[in-house]
Formats: sequence, structure tokens, C-alpha cells
Amino acid sequence: METTLRGVGVSHGVAIGEVRHMGTAVLEPPAKQIPADEAEREQGRARQAVEAVAADLVARGNLAGGEAQHVLEAQAMMAQDPELIADVDRRIAVGSTAERGVYDAFAAYRALLANAGEYLAGRVADLDDVRNRIVARLLGVPMPGVPDSDEPYVLIARDLAPADTALLDPTLVLGFVTEEGGPTSHSAILARALGVPAVVALPGAGEIAEGTVVAVDGSTGEIFVEPSQEKRAEMESASAARRAALSAVTGPGATSDGHKVPLLANVGGPGDVPAALEAGAEGVGLFRTEFLFLDDSKQAPSEEKQVKAYRAVLEAFPEGRVVVRVLDAGADKPLEFLTPADEPNPALGVRGLRSLLDHPDVLRTQLTALSRAAEGLPVYLEVMAPMVADRADAKAFADACREAGLQAKFGAMVEIPSAALRARSILQEVEFLSLGTNDLAQYTFAADRQVGAVSRLQDPWQPALLDLVALSAEAARAEGKSCGVCGEAASDPLLACVLTGLGVTSLSMGAASIPYVRATLAKHTLAQCERAASAARAADSADEARLAAQAVLSGE
Ligand code: PEP
Ligand code: MG
Repeated sequence: METTLRGVGVSHGVAIGEVRHMGTAVLEPPAKQIPADEAEREQGRARQAVEAVAADLVARGNLAGGEAQHVLEAQAMMAQDPELIADVDRRIAVGSTAERGVYDAFAAYRALLANAGEYLAGRVADLDDVRNRIVARLLGVPMPGVPDSDEPYVLIARDLAPADTALLDPTLVLGFVTEEGGPTSHSAILARALGVPAVVALPGAGEIAEGTVVAVDGSTGEIFVEPSQEKRAEMESASAARRAALSAVTGPGATSDGHKVPLLANVGGPGDVPAALEAGAEGVGLFRTEFLFLDDSKQAPSEEKQVKAYRAVLEAFPEGRVVVRVLDAGADKPLEFLTPADEPNPALGVRGLRSLLDHPDVLRTQLTALSRAAEGLPVYLEVMAPMVADRADAKAFADACREAGLQAKFGAMVEIPSAALRARSILQEVEFLSLGTNDLAQYTFAADRQVGAVSRLQDPWQPALLDLVALSAEAARAEGKSCGVCGEAASDPLLACVLTGLGVTSLSMGAASIPYVRATLAKHTLAQCERAASAARAADSADEARLAAQAVLSGE
């Protein structure tokens, strides 16, 4: 009998197929003692397994490219952490087998991370994945991960480690559903980059039996278990209609009455550029440069290496606009050489612009590299700072840009409620604003973006968040400056219309979402978008806001 479950839709599209579960069994090796004369051989086995797993992760990264590559390379570095390896050696020296030594050393490291603050909610999943891979190799059992299947399937997992998300084959994996993870988790961002329909934060999904047919709606977050023939037909035809509508609309982003809203792409490096161009992105609205910094947690990449990566992205958009965000380290993206190790709550600590102002040499090198990368190119370079709290922050950033001789527009991200509340004051120092709605929601609702249990509060339709967007857009309009959105909110087609109605001037998102947003925007006038925005702001909850906007836009 058909039953319906509801999670959070994070990547558009419909997938209908049989369920396959991710092989996530935690392999706990037996705790047996080995004689002292076997320790050296076991230590050798452990090292070999670590090296092989690290090499495999790097190879998967090379295959995947883009943001996924950086995430996988960071995981490979985790596997080779010298302190972790020293701990494995120590445990083997006092009688552990290689597999047990690895298992226990990772457990100790995990406990350390889990007690060190919130960003680690995401990192712990990565660490467990690395441990499972090494232990599986040592035990000679199949690697945990994406199921081995020749038939297309819907993947269900507790959470998806970046290593697996990166390897999902869109022709075999029809869609995926996870029990954990929020709409702004890095798994969700990667799913959108792949263009695979996905639903997250659905506790109980793990209980759907292997082989059961499910229909997944990545837009509404609904999962129909054993859908009736009628339901399948209805979803398939809705999906076909959507695809047809998508390919019918091309060109720059605009409402049906010609109000222009440039549609830009979020990229993590040159690897994401082809998909952005294919989707018809009019430029880049968020270049997350921190992925360049994840290769080596001990030092920043050289100026030369940075120039090369920046130039590759800038060259791809002649006459286009490219908004580069300077390094956003800390919280869920810690860097050893920048991020204090002992913060009780890293999301509220020294992260983003705060780290850079503490390490002016790192900021200076990045700005110089950007300036060199843009030399002689006909691109409109804009550079913005993450986590700007007030006018003093904005001034410090603009001063640093001027001192580096950067020929670009300087901007501030609005990710902290104080920045939205005092947007006009910040705009005295910078030329544009860009709303990072992922962090803005996190800080407005005191809801960690990595935690599935609080994903209700991460919903960008929350009227309080819309109020902050409106404040920022109104301030920019009053100052004659621009205010875009580059958080995940921009990738929801209906919300994109509401954001336009609130006065936002550009929308930046993962490339796969651009056609959906373009097609939806083209169906409505600016006045309709404004009415939908007022209706959404008048609501008392995210669900009510969504329904109210939907009612206005569908002409009810
Ligand atoms: C945001 O916070 O909305 C944002 C765009 O930045 P990131 O997701 O990289 O933190
Ligand atoms: Mg952010």
C-alpha cells in the first residue's frame, strides 16, 4: 500500500526506482592480542592500508573534479594525519592487530573532534568513512559505500560521505535519500552539483526494505513508498512537463515583463566552470576559494597557484561578472594554520573575515593573486568578504583591497543578522552586498546548518529570514547599489521569485538549478513576484510562507 514520507527536498527532479541501501555496516574488528614479534609486520600492514585508501580517495577526486575533488583530497589528508598514524603504531606496539589499532585510534580522534565544537558534526561523518575504508581493506572485505548494481536504483543512506556522493553515477543512481543532513550540508550542495534529485533529513528512510519501489520528489521532499500506478504516472508526466518547460526557456534571467535578474553560478574552482557555462550562467556569483586552500592545512597555496586557479575561472566569463569570495576558513571549514584549535564554538569564533584580519599576509597574498589573475582580461571582477559583522569589518576589508591595488568592486556578504540590520552603514564602505542565506539562517535561528534535527529552522522560507533579506535589499536600493543572493535559497525556483520581489538584484546557485530558476522566473511578472514576497512575509511559518507565495504566483 502506498505510504508517503516527507523529508527536505534539496535537489530538484523526480526519481522512481528500487531502493538500494548504502553499505554502512560499522566493521568492528575483534580485540585480540598479538605477540610482540608481530608488531612490526602489523604496523607495515596498517601503513599500507592507509596509503592505499588515501590514494584511492585522491583517484576518486581526480575522477570527480570540481568541489568534490577538494573534499576528497581533504579526506585523504585526514587518513594520513601523522598524529593518527603515530597513535595506530603505538596501539599495535602494545598488542593490537592492525585493524583494531586503526579502529581504536580513529575512535579516540573522533571523540576529540566531537568534543571540540559544532563544525565537526560534518567532519565526523568524513572521518568515519575514512576509518571504514581502512578497516575494510585490512579485513579484506568489500569497501563500504555505493552499492554494486548494474540496474538504476534509488540510494538510501544514513548520511552520504563526500567520497560516495562524488562517485554517484547519475545514470545508475536515480536519486538519493538520507536520514541525516540539512538543506545546506555539503552533501546537499554536492547533490545539486551532480544534478541528482535528493531528499535529506528523513529519519526512518533506513527502514525502507531493499528492493522496495519508491518515488522521490526532490522539489517537495516527498517520498512515496510503493506508489500506485496513478501516482507514478502523475509524477512522471509532471517531471516530463517540467523538463520540456526547462528546455523551452533560454537566455538571461528575467521576469515575464523583462525585469532582469542575472542568474549566476556558484563554483568551487575551475572544475565547476563547464557545468556553469552549459547551464547558461551569466557569470559567477560565488567563487568559494577555500577549496583551493584545503589541499594543505598547514599553509596557504602559493601566490602562483592561486593566480592560475583564479585566471582559469575569470577567463571563462569574458564580459561577464565574476564574484570571488576571499577565503572563508573556520567553523565547518577549519584550516590548521588559521583556525584556533581551542574554540568552544567555532561557528561563533574566529572564522571568515575575522581569520583573515588576524592573518593580513594571507589576505594580502590572495588579493594580489586576484589582481594579477584579472590583468588584461575583459571581466568584471568583484571581490567580497565572508562573515562581515559591521561597518568596521567592511572598512577593514575595503582598505585591504585598496592597499593591494585591486581593480575591482569590493563587497560584503550578509551572513550575520547584524549586517542585515545595519546594511546601510556597511554600504558606506563597500559597493555591493551578497546574501549568504545558509549562514544567515544558521545565525538567525541559532540552528547549526550541519544538524538534520534542526533543519526546520534552516528553511530559507522562514519569514524572519525573508525580513532580513528585505532589509538588505532595501538598503542597497536606497544607496543605489546591488544586493544579490548566493546562498542555497536562490536555487529554489519559487523562492527565487520571492527574492526578486523583495528587491534582490541577482541570484547565484549551483549550475544544475539555473534552468529551473530561469524557467520559473520567466513565468511571472515583477509585480506578481512583489505580491508573492509580501504574502510570504505576512506568514507566520516557512510552510505558510511557501503556500502563500505559491497561491499568489499560481493566480489563486
Ligand atoms: C552562505 O552562507 O549562504 C554561503 C553562501 O556561504 P557558505 O555556504 O560557503 O558558507
Ligand atoms: Mg557562509
